[in-house]
Amino acid sequence: MIYLDNAATTKPDGECVKAAEKYLYTQYFNPSALYKGGYGLQQEINSAGKNIVSLIANTENFDCIFTSCGTESDNQAIFCGGKRGNVVVSEGEHSAVLSAVNELKQRGIEIRYAKINADGGADKQSLPELVDEKTSLVSVMHVNNETGAVNDILSIAKAVKAKNKYCLFHSDGVQAFGKIPFKLSGDVDLYTISAHKINGVKGCGALIKRKNLAIKPYIYGGGQGQGLRSGTENVFGIKNFEFSAVKKYTQITENYKIISELNSLLWEKLDKSLFIKISGENSSPYILSVSAKGLRGETILHECDDNGLLIGTGSACSSNDKKRFSRTILACGYEESVADGVLRLSLCSENTREEVLAAAEILNKVVANRKAMMA
Ligand code: PLP
Repeated sequence: MIYLDNAATTKPDGECVKAAEKYLYTQYFNPSALYKGGYGLQQEINSAGKNIVSLIANTENFDCIFTSCGTESDNQAIFCGGKRGNVVVSEGEHSAVLSAVNELKQRGIEIRYAKINADGGADKQSLPELVDEKTSLVSVMHVNNETGAVNDILSIAKAVKAKNKYCLFHSDGVQAFGKIPFKLSGDVDLYTISAHKINGVKGCGALIKRKNLAIKPYIYGGGQGQGLRSGTENVFGIKNFEFSAVKKYTQITENYKIISELNSLLWEKLDKSLFIKISGENSSPYILSVSAKGLRGETILHECDDNGLLIGTGSACSSNDKKRFSRTILACGYEESVADGVLRLSLCSENTREEVLAAAEILNKVVANRKAMMA
């Protein structure tokens, strides 16, 4: 099997699972318990948060709340930040953000959608124009999960704050964290990350936040998560997330180089008479989005599956929408025949040149056969 669907999820790193195992079997106490074992775990959770935040931000200014996944972190940011007036989001956001703002709309908050460019990146020029004194929240993702477009969120956040210093700025960093070298600045208030996208296990995410933000809880209960996200903590998931994140950051530059080479090789070997490239030149190398124009991506996906190659069409997380065309690809300006044929090939550092060469061969063969059948 060749696995090129790493933007959907990644294989858990065995070493990091092993290192966290003791929090399942021996250190299984409730971190809120008053005996030493419980208190000790609370300390472990605190240090895990600090360690994770320190990978991309100054821990004097930022801390984090652990959640169950990236979707929950996005929801927390949207519902805690989008309290009044209007909320600005880019058209390319993940459904975790777009569905949440849709709910805000039902509650009477105006939603303003910022245009995206052909590569899926937010239009830096026009986005700040949507911000006014009534904007309570702006949310712009860091790396687009369908095209890999990298948004310059630091300069976007700066431009947003220049228009309204009181509105909150959130970024969904699920496809960036552990992959794109980057540091948060003080103009970013909230930043979403998720463990299973960086070889951690499923069931753990975090919302990194500027310290002392005046936000209300998202889940009410026993007061865990600084009182902002109650619920007994998933200590195993949190420690596993910490180990996976630290490991990723020790290899981030090396991995970026490996992945960039694999991405170039993959595109080089794909037959250009069969595929067009959707990902732009400055996209994250972890995602190569292409379209087999005129064909249905889903059909190609299943045929590749039959040939031992696992790939995605758009966002696996929005597959329940049952929408035929990706709204992101349409918002990029592509016609429906291109949007229909989109395939997302997403890499990890464990992928090899041999796998990439074999994947390109399978894709070329499957698409050429389909085209021939349709001729
Ligand atoms: N945001 C982005 C950009 C994503 O790619 C995903 C998942 O694909 C999510 C949010 C949701 O993360 P999770 O699967 O941890 O809920």
